[in-house]
Amino acid sequence: MLQIKNLTVKVSNKTILKDFNLTIKDGEIHALLGENGSGKSTICSAILNHPDYQKTSGKILFDNKDITNLSTDKISLMGIYLLAQNPLAIEGVNNIELLRSALSSKGEKINIFTLNKEINSVLKEIKLDSNFVSRDVNVGASGGERKKTEMLHLFMLKPKFIILDEIDSGLDIDSLKIVISSLKKYIKKYNPSILIITHQMKLLNALNPDYVHVIKDQNIKMSGDLEIAKKIEKTGFNETFKVSEND
Ligand code: ADP
Ligand code: MG
Repeated sequence: MLQIKNLTVKVSNKTILKDFNLTIKDGEIHALLGENGSGKSTICSAILNHPDYQKTSGKILFDNKDITNLSTDKISLMGIYLLAQNPLAIEGVNNIELLRSALSSKGEKINIFTLNKEINSVLKEIKLDSNFVSRDVNVGASGGERKKTEMLHLFMLKPKFIILDEIDSGLDIDSLKIVISSLKKYIKKYNPSILIITHQMKLLNALNPDYVHVIKDQNIKMSGDLEIAKKIEKTGFNETFKVSEND
């Protein structure tokens, strides 16, 4: 479904990723680990074609279509959804308006009463106050509330490819539990492909990724199963790489 081939990405003229390769098939869950600043969020922004992230070589295919230089709104309409590491506040646009317009651009015309009802049932599930329906997107919201708002948008828009960039950051233990159980429900119901970035073992264990990859020095240097994440959790990135070099 998603193929990243030999991608090089620059930010303000500095190369962050070089010859980056990753293929994620339908229904697969891939986890991406790597030290702070290794380029994990950069690959997310590059997939969505954020203008700050310049692709100087390589390409990205989604459902066999070249999306390397497609506009972000078109990429999102194809069914890729990014739950961002730092979700932005949008003053003057509330959640129900945002969702109504996003759904309508997907060709789904839902009347406001049905939409309100659906949003409320998701809010209840993720334990977010019902006033979030009409609150401006993320304005005055805490870190955890922003992550939950991302979950609300996810459940309403039902993308087939989800990128979760450190969804656990800002969440307290109870909220993390709620997010995990909602994500598990989503996976069971819609069988999406997922690219998840996190170092939180609880989340990794719960989602049980098919593959775990580690970025180091501009691209993926190690791939395997959850054992890699367990090793990193125990001994850190450097030790894990040292051991694998000696294998
Ligand atoms: P990670 O998500 O793995 O912690 P990032 O992908 O956010 O790392 O960042 C990788 C590197 O690129 C970092 O050195 C960061 O400072 C730099 N970087 C990312 N985005 C920008 C930006 N918009 N402007 C300048 N530098 C950036
Ligand atoms: Mg990041």
